[in-house]
Amino acid sequence: MGVGGKALGRRSRAKKQTSEPPPEPARPRRRTGPLAVAAALALVVGLAALYAGFGRAAPVRREPGLDVLLITIDTLRADALGCYGNRTVETPWIDRLARDGVRFEQAHAQNVVTLPSHANILSGRYPLEHGVRDNSGFRFPGGTETLATILKRAGYRTAAFVSAFPLDSRFGLDRGFDLYDDRLGDPEASSAFMMQERPGPQTLAAAQAWRAAQGGAKTFLWLHLYEPHFPYEPPEPFASRYGSSLYHGEVAYTDSVLGPLLEPLLSAGKSGRTLVILTGDHGEGLGEHGEKTHGIFAYEATLHVPLVVYAPRLLGPRVVRSPVRHIDLLPTVLDALGLDAPAGLPGRSLLPVAAGHGESAVPSYFEALSASLNRGWAPLTGLRRDRFKLIDLPIPELYDLEADPHETKNLAVSDPRQLEEIRGVLASVRGADRGIARNEESAEARARLQSLGYTSGSAPRKARYTAEDDPKRLIDLDAGIQDVVTLYRQGLLPEAIARVNEVLAVRPDMPLALQHLAFLQRETGDLRGAVDTLRHSIAVDPDNTDAAALLGAYLNESGRGKEAVQLLQTFAERKDPDVDVLLARGAALAQIGDTQGALATFNRALAIDPSNAVAKANVGTVYLMLRDYPRAREVMEEALALDPNVSRAHNALGVIAAETGHLDDAIQHLKRAVELNPREWDTLFNLGKLLRRQGREAEARPYLERFVREAPPSQYGPDIRRLQATLAPPKS
Ligand SMILES: [Zn+2]
Repeated sequence: MGVGGKALGRRSRAKKQTSEPPPEPARPRRRTGPLAVAAALALVVGLAALYAGFGRAAPVRREPGLDVLLITIDTLRADALGCYGNRTVETPWIDRLARDGVRFEQAHAQNVVTLPSHANILSGRYPLEHGVRDNSGFRFPGGTETLATILKRAGYRTAAFVSAFPLDSRFGLDRGFDLYDDRLGDPEASSAFMMQERPGPQTLAAAQAWRAAQGGAKTFLWLHLYEPHFPYEPPEPFASRYGSSLYHGEVAYTDSVLGPLLEPLLSAGKSGRTLVILTGDHGEGLGEHGEKTHGIFAYEATLHVPLVVYAPRLLGPRVVRSPVRHIDLLPTVLDALGLDAPAGLPGRSLLPVAAGHGESAVPSYFEALSASLNRGWAPLTGLRRDRFKLIDLPIPELYDLEADPHETKNLAVSDPRQLEEIRGVLASVRGADRGIARNEESAEARARLQSLGYTSGSAPRKARYTAEDDPKRLIDLDAGIQDVVTLYRQGLLPEAIARVNEVLAVRPDMPLALQHLAFLQRETGDLRGAVDTLRHSIAVDPDNTDAAALLGAYLNESGRGKEAVQLLQTFAERKDPDVDVLLARGAALAQIGDTQGALATFNRALAIDPSNAVAKANVGTVYLMLRDYPRAREVMEEALALDPNVSRAHNALGVIAAETGHLDDAIQHLKRAVELNPREWDTLFNLGKLLRRQGREAEARPYLERFVREAPPSQYGPDIRRLQATLAPPKS
């Protein structure tokens, strides 16, 4: 389809509607490929037909060319929504979508953390196949098809708007998207405790602007909102209204954010041409089984997610009770559009069951490996089959979800036959496991699995895990880590350090706790202590890329660039090095005066992640050091084109403008830099001085006062004392 045809806008599309083929009858379509098999299977009413919608079965309709809108809401428990029976939370928009669409009562995620879960949704494949097992250290493989790559090939314009760092383009989900908007605010202002996140209204506004600019072209839009994720800090009036459960306040707030997007789609009804899929990537523990957030366990609290498919032209309102999975979404969308799915997918189209045709339940594999990868605990995998769910750990768990939906009665001992049967199915599903890349030790094996990427937040793996490694025995430590984050955010630094030390007293080598301790030590100005803690972390876990990158950054900060260069050498020499490691090593090389080495290292990071604005800004900083202002300015402007929120690029452009006599321009850039990252102490200082030199004392004062108040005395003692003398309260 040519662009010229699209220029006519929505009007040409409305005309097309009249020439659509009539709805198809409810029988398997005669098609080639695995989809035909899936569709045929889907119509077989198995022994355990679980379908129970309201209303009679309707013909299975398909319609090429529908717009596709995928909405994923992070950390969304199914039972946090009105349409899933919650009587206290107000979620009117999602409820309306569910009422007019198909709501799946029993939808399950395959993973309980963000990146792997979205990889499952977008690829229709289990993590066993695409290899992304945790948020950090893995990259989505280059050769694997996704909704984006397939729909782009089918002539769609494709865009993604994501709201949190785990979905950064560096992790590889950006392939197939014309536009992958992962701008999340100043990428360098985040800390070990704060995942970078973009407020929902901003993400939505960017997505709406893109949609409006596409004219009549058919579009695939993926919108990801992050609000319900910990920490729970909803704005007013939600904060007051949901004071007793701020998590639910975040959910209600997210629903309100979606209003402007959903309203026109809901009003359009059957005349609308958008297929909407709304789901959560995983749920939230909220204290169930001792888990406050998510990522450790795989109970229903975090595995059971909402799923609504809204496409009034294809599907009438219905509630589906059959268990369904995230991996079924890709085949469903492609089926609805009349497109063939890639061969060998483990999932199947939900279109028939959504139209009211019963089917048998299919097994659902799931895993929660973060605690194993990051903390050295036993790996958790499991399988749901019919009403039974197996969680395969050193202390195995078996639940009958129909009789015991809250998973309180472990049947593993009392029903060994069922346990072994499901274990057998789990073993056969896991037969497809291509392995966790990080485990491979030989270079050849690494090369073979290269497309799987490497883990970073790694903990040493054991040959055998015992009950002592079972997350059930260790979950209190997780609660301890959450406490540390909460205490820190409340400004209670000594209390946070005391709490993390309590965790370390139980599990002295827990990498995450060590990284948190190092971060807190640095916050108190104890940079030397922070470096020692990370050195210990790497000594017990030599493969830990996260700790290495952080240690490199802290060594740089302490002026120990030479040590950082040495430390990071082996990490940087890997076949598929971590981008943060390269950034830290490049900064270290720049610090010891090896500017060429620094440029080469940053460019290597850019080769892996071309849209990495921080890597760009680092290149610009080297040119700035070399006083090559034209090159520096050019590269910094490129960095801002990638992400307008990189404060350091604004800072550099401000410095260049000041050096070249463009003072107003300089002040503007420096103000923006400080606004984006209030902890840029040098910028704060420079801005205040520049304003003062211009005679703009009243404007300068707030910046200089803030510097005196907030900049760490360990680094800026003399500057602070000198300024204090000049900031005596004006005589009145
Ligand atoms: Zn998530």
